[in-house]
Amino acid sequence: MLPVTSPIADLLHTIVDIESVSGNEKNLADEVEATLAPLNHLEVSRHGDTVVARTHLGRARRVAIAGHLDTVPVANNLPSVLQIREGREVLVGRGTVDMKGGVAVQLSLAAALDVPTTDVTWIFYDNEEVEATRNGLGRLASTHPDLVASDFAILMEPTGSVIEGGCQGSLRVRLTTHGVAAHSARSWRGSNAIHGLTPAFDALNAYQPATVTVDGLDYREGLNAVEVSGGIASNVIPDKAQLTVNYRFAPDKDGSQAQWFLRQVFAGYETEVLDLAEGARPGLTLPAVADFVAALGVEVRPKYGWTDVARFAALGIPAVNFGPGDPNLAHTDDEHVFLDEVVACRDALSRWLMA
Ligand SMILES: [Zn+2]
Repeated sequence: MLPVTSPIADLLHTIVDIESVSGNEKNLADEVEATLAPLNHLEVSRHGDTVVARTHLGRARRVAIAGHLDTVPVANNLPSVLQIREGREVLVGRGTVDMKGGVAVQLSLAAALDVPTTDVTWIFYDNEEVEATRNGLGRLASTHPDLVASDFAILMEPTGSVIEGGCQGSLRVRLTTHGVAAHSARSWRGSNAIHGLTPAFDALNAYQPATVTVDGLDYREGLNAVEVSGGIASNVIPDKAQLTVNYRFAPDKDGSQAQWFLRQVFAGYETEVLDLAEGARPGLTLPAVADFVAALGVEVRPKYGWTDVARFAALGIPAVNFGPGDPNLAHTDDEHVFLDEVVACRDALSRWLMA
């Protein structure tokens, strides 16, 4: 049983020291399930190493509050250690930032708040730090959409306790050019496939990154070459060349609009979509989200990376990222979180859920 009624620092310390590198979440999921299942105000279910705990108070609104149980591999930074830095208590160790600080807040509030003013679905899921096909939240959304259904979702990824709204989408496309191979001493007999990429590079250089305002947040887009290949030998005119580009697009457009845009930019090229991750609108104008932002009274920023908020968005559920810890410390060997920040995050979320 986890010490969910103890000070949150103790709870955090305990769950950080239950190692749960992706694929090895079972022990922690067992503890979460065993701790929450006996509580009368929660209906708890287990799906692999994902645990869902829901209130059923018949409230007008339901919020899903989600966090992943897994961490990236340990780098000699477990068990965690308590230190004083900058005159404040910090817990140092793998997972303190990404994202057991957030999970500790979830567990503490799931246990403490038996009559929140909004119904809550607490989701603790596995395999976020690995390939998307293993993601526990994605699995839950496809096998039990009823358990994910909500009016609003909060993902407790580390944001330094500001609200990060939505997320950008990402599209990777590979362009291929074909030429005719020839000896480079008689190059006029061939056709150079690498040179055929020149208009694509011109288009990339001419591209002006758009800044798109969505629900009041400015998302700065990007279109970049990320990989290039071609040529088989230094005396052969290459007959094939490939260029991979990555387009990070604002959440005012969906994946098909992003693909349409790249088809215009690279008109005439043979293209192949390598992967596509939809973005997510921050939904700040929706009442549930506006209410959350107003109640917390913290800064709101756009989210540039891709996060699981997009899974909620795909289901039509507005979602934001909000959690303790400096995201720049995630995955570092010196991963650490200030304990007063975890306390403040818990208090802010508690006030909102009880308001
Ligand atoms: Zn994370």
